Formats: sequence, structure tokens, C-alpha cells
Amino acid sequence: MDMNDKKKQRQSMFLYILIAVLAMSLLRTFVYPSVMNGTVKETSYSEFLQMVDSGEVEKVDLDSDTRQITYTTGEGESEQLYKTTQFPNDSTLVERLEKSGVTFSAHLQDETATLMLYLLINLLPLIIFLFGGWLLNRRLRKQMGDDNNMSFGGGFGLGGGLGRSGAKEVKGEDTGVTFRDVAGQDEAKESLAEIVGFLKNPERYAAIGAKLPHGALLVGPPGTGKTLLAKACAGEANVPFFSISGSEFVEMFVGRGAARVRDLFRQANEKAPCIIFIDEIDAIGKRRDTSLNSNDEREQTLNQLLAEMDGFDNHKGIVVLAATNRPESLDPALTRPGRFDRRIPVELPDLTGREAILRLHAGDVRMEPGIDFGVIARMTPGASGADLANMINEAALRAVRMGRNRVSQNDILESVDVVIAGEKKKSTVLSEHEKEVVSYHETGHAIVAAVQDGKKPVSKITIVPRTSGALGFTMQAEEDEHYLTTREEYKQQIAVLCGGRAAEELIFGVMTSGAANDIERATRIARAMVTQLGMSERFGMMALGQTRNQYLGGDATLTCSEGTAQEVDAEVQRLVEEGHQSALETLRMNRFKLHEIAHYLQKKETITGEEFMRILTRDDGFAPKMPAAE
Ligand code: ADP
Ligand code: MG
Ligand code: ZN
Repeated sequence: MDMNDKKKQRQSMFLYILIAVLAMSLLRTFVYPSVMNGTVKETSYSEFLQMVDSGEVEKVDLDSDTRQITYTTGEGESEQLYKTTQFPNDSTLVERLEKSGVTFSAHLQDETATLMLYLLINLLPLIIFLFGGWLLNRRLRKQMGDDNNMSFGGGFGLGGGLGRSGAKEVKGEDTGVTFRDVAGQDEAKESLAEIVGFLKNPERYAAIGAKLPHGALLVGPPGTGKTLLAKACAGEANVPFFSISGSEFVEMFVGRGAARVRDLFRQANEKAPCIIFIDEIDAIGKRRDTSLNSNDEREQTLNQLLAEMDGFDNHKGIVVLAATNRPESLDPALTRPGRFDRRIPVELPDLTGREAILRLHAGDVRMEPGIDFGVIARMTPGASGADLANMINEAALRAVRMGRNRVSQNDILESVDVVIAGEKKKSTVLSEHEKEVVSYHETGHAIVAAVQDGKKPVSKITIVPRTSGALGFTMQAEEDEHYLTTREEYKQQIAVLCGGRAAEELIFGVMTSGAANDIERATRIARAMVTQLGMSERFGMMALGQTRNQYLGGDATLTCSEGTAQEVDAEVQRLVEEGHQSALETLRMNRFKLHEIAHYLQKKETITGEEFMRILTRDDGFAPKMPAAE
């Protein structure tokens, strides 16, 4: 037991006694008087004498030391007890009593009996409280099986069950999830299938002498189904599932994290074969370092976790799964062989994966027949499983709002916009002029996109303001998934992003704030081309940056000297400007189509990709023209 534990134990003991004393004095002031004296009435001496004279009094008892008189009236049921104190030197009392025919007696105070009674009344509650606390504490310790842990207050629930691991145990069949509930992610499922096999049949592996991984780390962007996969593992293998989230370790009290880890593994050991799942492990597994703000508590917890993972007997079949979206921040000790030696990537779903996820979730809601999930999957590159699940749900909500009892294709298309760009914002009312500017801006994007090689056709243009702040957007769908992007394609992307601003400049001769997001994205692409992808003439294949948080946006830090950084900026600026000029040229050449489509869009507010293409490619002498290739 360390210093912290002792100190805490003393604290909670003190707290407990405080509560006991408080409760006791409450009892004494409120409960006892009514129990002991509830039926005893205090009267004055004169009243007593009157009552004696009137013959009401039946019995009188005098305490010869304290001169306390206890007397009764009535008999049997109606008997009533009274109390009073004798007036000094009243020598006539005996006479009066005799005259009224009262039975009377006197007694000497029994010192020891009174003392005993006094002690009993005052100390009994304290004894009961302390004994109760001791019992509870003992039971708690037995539950924890941890003799080091004398958390006195724990018995009373002070501090929220101190020392318990807080892990939720769920029976395997009760996670309610199997691999069938996870769409796509076939590689991850394959990797986990072996672990499932091991959990189902640990002896077979032991017999041959094969050692299974102690742990597997699920890494990937948020919402890709890591937590879901872990649960599905337990469901498949039908074993208990202990899950705890990394953030839960970060407790109010210091020194608890390590105890929790210890307890978690002890519980698991009893229930093996089983799965321990540590969600968001980066909360405790962060690289230990010497920086000033290092966190002792976290390090202790991590050390305990490392020790437990080395210590447990894997023949019994315990598998530790963990999930994170910041694998690079994990302590190397965690990922070395023998601990989380398996790394299972859970990436964003591709086209077929997205369609499968949409279909899976659509199975839970009532759909109109003949919904084309392929179209929706193509519209949503970069969406995670959680996004897609959310889209289906939003679509169902919309169907209800519209008073229908089935979800239509349109509902889903609308909900795609909601998930990507936010709800429609009714409170934002654009003036006609602003609407015109936004129409030209979006049409500018669309035309620049359309005249390119056609791999990413425009699927929708809208100028309905969204809660995300966007005043409109142009959506491009991918024909089919591709995993390599060429330098030309990046340049085209930059040009498309510049198309909005280019249209504003060309038609109105103004620049508006509407292009801020476009500019940010175009610059990010250009920067990646220069610093990471080796796509600039100036630097060639030199890496000038390093990605951090690959799964959380993937921002890069420069790793070059200051002088080079300046050159990088210049190169980035050159690339973006190139795209800008190319967009301007494209729009200049297709000026008439730009006018026509922008006005049509302004009137209709939302147009589909087909409508757009119909106007753009209509054979009227203004067919789309592409700028000559450089
Ligand atoms: P993560 O832990 O990776 O952040 P979750 O496992 O919590 O993501 O996924 C959140 C939700 O998204 C799940 O409950 C599920 O409804 C949905 N989801 C994500 N990926 C998938 C998938 N591959 N198949 C089906 N549903 C998925
Ligand atoms: Mg999760
Ligand atoms: Zn734009």
C-alpha cells in the first residue's frame, strides 16, 4: 500500500466517523425523545396537587434523591404517565395522597442501572454504525480480493465504489452483436476470427504449443466500428466481455487507476476465457516522457497495465482488445510483442463497404422498395460507418416528419446533405443579390469540375444555407473508388476549389468571404503535394513534413529549416495560384453556360447533376470548352 492509499484510508475513516456521530445526534434529538417520553407528560407541581385532590391520580412514585415524581391517571388502556418535581419542603403531600386514596411509594436511585441505560442510549448507535461499517468494508474487500485496499468509506459508497474496476461485464451473448452486424471491414474481421477461434477453444492452441497474441489493437478513424468489432468478437466467441474506457481510468482520486487495472484483470482471470476491452486506450497509454506536465497517475496506471499484460496466463484464454484513433501517441512499451502485438487497422469504408453498411442499417428501418444504395455510397466518399448509420436514421426521422411510413430514396439523399453539411438553416434569409453571388459561386465550382476528365461528375448543386455555415455546396460523386491520386488530379481538385472565387471575380469583380473554406482546402492539398507527396518541381521527392494524428484529420508539421519553410510557402502559393488561373480560364471560356446555370440555380435553389449536365452539354453552340493543356 502506498502513501496515497494510507492517506486516503485515514481520510475516509474520519469521514465515516463524522457521519456516524452526526447520525447519532440526529437520533438523539429527534427520535429518542418521542420514543422514551412520547407518552410522558410533564406537569407543574400545582397541577399535580390539583389532580391528586380531584382524585384522578392512581399511583405515585417518588425518587428520593432527585425529588422526581412519576404518577399515573386512569387504568389499563387509558393509563397516562405524568412527571413533575416535588416542591421543596412540602410536608403535606403524604397527607393529601392518603386522603385521596392514592397508591404511593418512594425509591432510591440505582446509580449503576442509570449509568448503564445512559451508556446504552448514547453509545449503542455508535457501536452499530461502526460495526456495520466494518462489515460492509470487509465484504467489499472480499469482493475486490485485494487485501491492500482498505477503503473504509467504500462501504458507504463514498467516492463511488472506491477501488472497483468499474468495468462493465457483459455476457458474451449479451453484447448482442456478432460479425454479421459489422458490414465491410473484412480484413479486420479476418484478423479477429483467429482470436475468436482461440477464445472458443484455447486448449487446441495450447496443445500444439502455439502462443496467441495477448492483445490486439484496433486502430482507425473515429466511427469506423472499432468498438462494434470488439463487441462482435465477444458475441462470436460467446465469452464474457469486460469493457472499460480509457477515460474512466482518469479518476477523481489519485492512485485508483492502477487498482482498477489490477481488479479488472483479476475479474477477467476468474471468468476466463473472456475478452477485456479497453476503449480509447490513448487516454492512459500515452507515451511516457520527461516533459514537465507528465502525469504520475497516468504513468502508474500504464505501468500496472503493462505488468498485468505480462503477468496473465494466456492458456486460460484471456484476450485484451484495445481501440484507439491515435496509435502514434501510444507508449512503445504497449505495442511491443507480448502485449498489443497485433495491430488491426479499421479504415474508413470504401465504396462497397459503404454500400454494405447502408444496406445493413437500412435493414432496421422500413424502406420503400427499389432504393439505390449504390448511388448514395458513391456520394459519400470519406464517410465513416457511424456517419452512414446516422444518415439512415436521419432519413427515417425525415420520413416521419413528412408523415410517411416508409423511407424513400429522397429522404436518404436529403439526410446525406444533413450529415455532410448540417441541417437546412431556415433563419438565414439571403437577399436576392447574395443568392445570385452564391449561385455563381457554386456554378463556378461545378463547371470547373465538369470540364475535367469526368471521373468525378457533379451530382448536386444547392444554395440552401446550412447550419454548418455553408451557404451552398456542390457535391461530386466518384464513379468508382480509386486508391491512387495523381498529381494532375490534385491539381484539378485545387482548380475546382478555386472555381467558386473565380466565378465571383469574373462576373461581379468582387471577392466574398464565401470562399474561405475553399481556400483552406485548396491550400491544404497544395501543401501536402509539396511537403509530403513529392509533387513539386522545386523540392522533388523530399519529405518536408510529418503527419500527426493520421486518423484525426492528419495535420502535418514541417520538419525543415526556416529558410526552406519560406520556399515551401512560395511553392504552395504557386500551386494554388495555378489552380486559380486555370479555373478563371475555364469559366471565361464557358461564360454563357455559367450565366445560364447560375440563374437556373438561383431560381430552383437545388438542382441535380443531371439537370446541370443537360444545360451544360446542350448543343447550342456553347458546348463546354476546356482550357488547352499546359
Ligand atoms: P469507433 O469505436 O470506431 O469510433 P463505433 O464502433 O463506436 O466506432 O461505431 C459507431 C456506430 O457506427 C456503430 O454503433 C454502428 O452503428 C456504426 N458502424 C460503424 N462501422 C460500422 C460497420 N462497419 N458496420 C455497421 N455499422 C457500423
Ligand atoms: Mg469507439
Ligand atoms: Zn465554394
